[in-house]
Amino acid sequence: METNIEINKPSPKFQDVSIAPMHTCEHIINRTMINLFGCGRSVSAHIEKKKSKLDYALESAPTEEDVKRLEETVNAVIAQGLDVSTEFITQEEAQGRFDLKRLPDDASETVRVVKVGNYDECLCLGTHVKNTSEIGTFKVISHDWNEEAKRWRMRFKLVAP
Ligand SMILES: [Zn+2]
Repeated sequence: METNIEINKPSPKFQDVSIAPMHTCEHIINRTMINLFGCGRSVSAHIEKKKSKLDYALESAPTEEDVKRLEETVNAVIAQGLDVSTEFITQEEAQGRFDLKRLPDDASETVRVVKVGNYDECLCLGTHVKNTSEIGTFKVISHDWNEEAKRWRMRFKLVAP
């Protein structure tokens, strides 16, 4: 199973600037999924330069209309030209503010918070763009629903800005 890269230990791949637009978009998608569907952040992520996929645990399959709303909302956030910023806080300060369940046992006492404007904040060690204007246009390529697992898989790409 692919691990969720937000919150994970830094892996060389996620320091790769070439996937920074995709990965930063992942933050925005996660927050939009939470807002639209009341779910959690993605349960699994596979981020690549050209095409990425995200899995979400949902109660039921999103409709085509839902997918359209997701696309529109994410692109509206991108279009705001939000600055991406980072801050460091202690694990104690992070209690209650963030889900620390996925934090590795050997995580440092200080954790890194990544904020996309005031839209989203989460713990992450990856590399991000400085401003959402660098992301491009978010486009859902395909999606499918696994009824047994109650898992929605969405594949997406970015059209260069
Ligand atoms: Zn990140």
